[in-house]
Amino acid sequence: MKLPYAEPYRIKMVEPIFQSTIEQRKAWIKEADYNLFNLKSDQVYIDLLTDSGTGAMSDRQWAEIMLGDESYAGSRSFLKLDKAVKDITGYKYFIPTHQGRAAENVLFSATVKEGDIIPGNSHFDTTKGHIEFRKGKAVDCTIAEAFDTDLYHPFKGNIDLDKLKKVLSENPIEKIPFIIITVTCNTAGGQPVSMENIKAVSALCKSYNVPVYFDAARYAENCYFIKVREEAYKDVSIKDIAKEMFSYGDGMTMSSKKDGLVNMGGIIALNDEPTYRTAITFNIMYEGFITYGGMSGRDMGALAVGLYEALDYDYLASRVTQVQYLGEKMAEFGVPVQKPIGGHAVYLDANKFVPTIPKEEYRAQSLAIELYIVAGIRGVEIGTILADRDPETRENRYPELELVRLAIPRRTYTHNHMEYIAAALHEIYISRHEAKNGYNILWEAPIMRHFTVKLEKIQS
Ligand SMILES: *Cc1c(COP(=O)(O)O)cnc(C)c1O
Repeated sequence: MKLPYAEPYRIKMVEPIFQSTIEQRKAWIKEADYNLFNLKSDQVYIDLLTDSGTGAMSDRQWAEIMLGDESYAGSRSFLKLDKAVKDITGYKYFIPTHQGRAAENVLFSATVKEGDIIPGNSHFDTTKGHIEFRKGKAVDCTIAEAFDTDLYHPFKGNIDLDKLKKVLSENPIEKIPFIIITVTCNTAGGQPVSMENIKAVSALCKSYNVPVYFDAARYAENCYFIKVREEAYKDVSIKDIAKEMFSYGDGMTMSSKKDGLVNMGGIIALNDEPTYRTAITFNIMYEGFITYGGMSGRDMGALAVGLYEALDYDYLASRVTQVQYLGEKMAEFGVPVQKPIGGHAVYLDANKFVPTIPKEEYRAQSLAIELYIVAGIRGVEIGTILADRDPETRENRYPELELVRLAIPRRTYTHNHMEYIAAALHEIYISRHEAKNGYNILWEAPIMRHFTVKLEKIQS
């Protein structure tokens, strides 16, 4: 008999969350200029804004907090983390940073120059931001299948080898400091990259002498998908899959706020000594000394434990199963969601959900606002507002996918919360034809505007 899945942990501490009324939420979101980032957390019932730094730590991680060694240089907590990172990635050098984008800032300061080209699979927004800020160009080489939300493909995060080859062969190699493989691919819907693809990309890049870096925020979830979807790996442990995956690259940056199972932290790990030498100087300037890089000793200890917990098969199975349960429940109700369901989030396809709203009025943002008003659930737009304007023409860039991401924090919400979320979306879906008007931008920042944009509702 196959028993149903259940979480491989129980709850030792609870945090109350507040339920509000629709009237309250209508007033709050208006006060927040219709930007969900401006809401107070107490104005939100279920917070699916991000799975970044919002998960629950284990009792073992909390124990490490008490063991934290806060020495400026060479602390025990750093040494624990250093050992864990090198053991898991196999890379020679490790640099701690305060979060993922800081790792990008430090590594890219050492490697990216004006006019450089960095191919990859749908670069994450801060990754692209750090490239464009240095007047470099991020070229998206994701496979075309990733942009068809109805199509099943087990590895929609894969890189299109022909697209990549074109970029590598048509540009001077000294203009391509490295390529980035994002595992899992957040921007394409939390979709994994297969080991076969990683291997092929690595071989292609080697033939051009271009290094491969991983954006490894959700590498453990990616390894889980490799185990369950790639026949050759079904009997390989997650840790060994991770080791093999990293062996095809030259280094990685990571936001520890995802698969590090901690609330704050970042990692750079790499093999090339000259790059490491250059990067540590930037680390000292931007982050802190090389044995803490913006992290407390106690947080480094908790991360050292979290990295291993995230590689536990039962943990990963319960995590991915929870996300899939939510996605499949919504799909049953007819709600258009990105398929297959990704590892950390369910993505609503706003172009299919609310085609009645003009795309110039930000469909995905409009849907995210409606979900907040109806149910107190906070998701996030992954669409036109996030895509920013073209740096040259200053026109809106309309991405192929207009999504609302519902990111599920790790080890945080229960099965009943998933039922509540699915029911709320079902209700909105039933009355979707009534949605006619979206929003106008009142104010926006020149880069990464989604965090601070101010909007107004368009009245009919
Ligand atoms: C979160 C994330 C980052 C940035 O990390 P922060 O810790 O938020 O600075 C970079 N890449 C990916 C894929 C991410 O998910």
